[in-house]
Amino acid sequence: MFLKGKCALVTGSTSGIGLAYARAFAAEGANVVLSGFGDAAGIARTCEELAAASGGKAIHSPADLTRRSGVEEMMTLAADTFGGVDVLVNNAGMQHVAPIEEFPPEKWDAIIALNLTSAFDAARLAVPWMKAKGWGRIISTASAHSLTASPFKIAYVAAKHALAGYTKTLALELATCGVTVNCISPGYVWTPLVENQIPDTMKARNMTREQVINEVMLVRQPTRQFVLPEQVAAMALFLCRDEAAQITGANMSIDGGWTAE
Ligand code: NAD
Repeated sequence: MFLKGKCALVTGSTSGIGLAYARAFAAEGANVVLSGFGDAAGIARTCEELAAASGGKAIHSPADLTRRSGVEEMMTLAADTFGGVDVLVNNAGMQHVAPIEEFPPEKWDAIIALNLTSAFDAARLAVPWMKAKGWGRIISTASAHSLTASPFKIAYVAAKHALAGYTKTLALELATCGVTVNCISPGYVWTPLVENQIPDTMKARNMTREQVINEVMLVRQPTRQFVLPEQVAAMALFLCRDEAAQITGANMSIDGGWTAE
């Protein structure tokens, strides 16, 4: 249990990839701060499950991370409970699919706030503790869309490309502090975020559900398979190990070969 006694905070971890990260960290003994929305009883059960797995504690922050004050509340809760955050995973994200003329400006603002600005604020507040301890891990869930684009996803693609730049910059700033900074770039992972974009993509491209799955999503991945949340989590766990201490500033693709094409 190599993360015993450490605190791992995963934004957007009440479902999908974030929950898989939380489970992977708890299995290695980490105290976990879950974040995100969902049914309170279900989240409480997840916290119990994580604490049982880690032998430590798991708590939940319900803060809305599209607001700077929400990120600050979440980081204060983590600091008050665990002293500080040792492993910060910037994972909360949302998507909106529409042509630019129909793209609501408020969706642009929300996506940039959640997918990008919350990562800036969380790191700003986590780094002093990591520097003081001489150890830390900052991992962001970017996307294949941090390296390549698709039409109708302007805010998401812009935010994910920016997260890749954030990763390189912070990695350089923290290179001598024992803190590594990396991002993971999955292709399509079957989660609520992907499932929920199918209806809008059907509309934007005039396609059936099966066509969207096969001709928009899986067509991008030469393996013709979705990535599994657990595969993404295994990469994050590896990035926390001492063996990964020299991996910093990297953008790790897990995309079935998408960005090799
Ligand atoms: P998901 O929809 O299953 O999970 C999103 C999480 O973010 C949930 O816990 C949700 O409650 C939380 N969240 C949403 N809005 C929030 C807000 N305002 N404040 C706080 N929390 C909020 O999605 P997922 O597919 O697991 O996505 C996780 C990350 O992975 C995202 O950054 C996404 O861009 C990225 N990603 C996903 C895929 C994919 O194919 N699913 C591919 C590449 C990258």
